[in-house]
Amino acid sequence: MCGIVAAAAGNNIVPVLVEGLKKLEYRGYDSAGLAVIGSNGIERVRSVGRVAELEAASASTHSVTGIAHTRWATHGVPCERNAHPHVSGSIAVVHNGIIENYESLRAELSAQGYVFTSDTDTESIAHLVQATLKNEPDLFKAVRLACQRLVGAYAIAVIDHTQPGKIIVAREGSPLLLGVSDSGNYAASDASALLQVTRNMVYLENGDIAELSADNVTITRLDGTLVD
Ligand code: GLU
Repeated sequence: MCGIVAAAAGNNIVPVLVEGLKKLEYRGYDSAGLAVIGSNGIERVRSVGRVAELEAASASTHSVTGIAHTRWATHGVPCERNAHPHVSGSIAVVHNGIIENYESLRAELSAQGYVFTSDTDTESIAHLVQATLKNEPDLFKAVRLACQRLVGAYAIAVIDHTQPGKIIVAREGSPLLLGVSDSGNYAASDASALLQVTRNMVYLENGDIAELSADNVTITRLDGTLVD
């Protein structure tokens, strides 16, 4: 167990991310981190300590779009280098679960020149999305195509600083729900993390993928079919 919080809103979302992670602490974790879209690109803060330490380390971080994570290590020891979010080029990814085909993805992406800086299965998702963006520049579609290549269990959230204001989330086998409100749209591993901002929850099904912005939510299946 472990947790994800993501937020796209009209004002600074870092306090929402941190408060959400605190509500997910009961699930257990060994490290925590967040990434936001800043004026100069992705800004990432990671900590091997408690969420309170991440809160202190991110006190000067402000953004309207961001993702956050508490990690329960399955691939790679608990350390800052292995803590999420993982970054590849313009994008950052958080992931709960296990990618079973990460070794073949890692070999394929390494051969294409992508440099791995962690021991996690998750970093393969980051480089796979970045590689997919070369042929499919729309982040929603690129994440959807990348997810079609993943084997295993995942809940993920992805941001791209070249496409600010949007977050793509997807789930297959790991929990993830959306929180919808007039002031912003959110995602998290469980509702307790989002009650601070809304009571209007949308539970994603396995195989759902969604694009969130401050004022819109679109959900499709992995084949692109729109979900009502
Ligand atoms: N398998 C990933 C890792 O070891 C994600 C673990 C988790 O679910 O927190 O980094």
